[in-house]
Amino acid sequence: MQKIGLIGGMSWESSALYYRLLNEQVRDRLGGLHSAACIMTSVDFAEIERMQSSGQWDAAGDLLAREARALQSAGADIVVLCTNTMHKVARYIEDALDVPFLHLVDTTADAIRSAGVSKVLLLGTRFTMEEPFYRERMEARGVSVIVPSDPDRAVINRVIYDELVLGDVNDASRRAFRRVIAAGVRDGAEGVILGCTEIELLISQGDAEVPVFASTSLHATAAVDAAFSHAR
Ligand code: GLU
Repeated sequence: MQKIGLIGGMSWESSALYYRLLNEQVRDRLGGLHSAACIMTSVDFAEIERMQSSGQWDAAGDLLAREARALQSAGADIVVLCTNTMHKVARYIEDALDVPFLHLVDTTADAIRSAGVSKVLLLGTRFTMEEPFYRERMEARGVSVIVPSDPDRAVINRVIYDELVLGDVNDASRRAFRRVIAAGVRDGAEGVILGCTEIELLISQGDAEVPVFASTSLHATAAVDAAFSHAR
């Protein structure tokens, strides 16, 4: 099993989910007392959010590249970035690493295509839903993306930053997400991407009439697959 390096803290609520998923999957695959060989670095999300909202993406990219290099120096064989939004600066991380970087958009797109789905509703932060970095990479892999209306994007974004990253998971927001998902299905979505690593703390397959693609679970599974793909 190779050692998985995680760049976490964005937010720690979802990093904790990554850690649980990696360990459960290794336990399920190997049995006994086995658990995941992994290393996590965890940043201060307040600092990252300030950089996002003030448009300091180069500085954020440099910061995450330093974290990635620290993981590599500590022995990580594969690196994953535990947030959808910060994949906007994935290039900084890829350029800093000699070991493979497992891109979350690719692992999500591959699962969507394997399920035979071609048009999906994307839920995530405003950056993820509105900027080209996510949609274009999906489209390059054969998946077409639609997003909620502007007022609904505001609702999704607010729930992420004011509730989910703080561990506030509540029924009113779950109902709001269900309504937005149903509207997306009426607009032709054949699936829905939970394109923010905290959304699967709130929403699961039972909340949608179409297949749900949960980016955290898919990314964690891909990381474990990669860790087992090279015997060591
Ligand atoms: N975890 C979230 C995501 O997957 C949002 C936090 C962030 O802005 O990084 O996009």
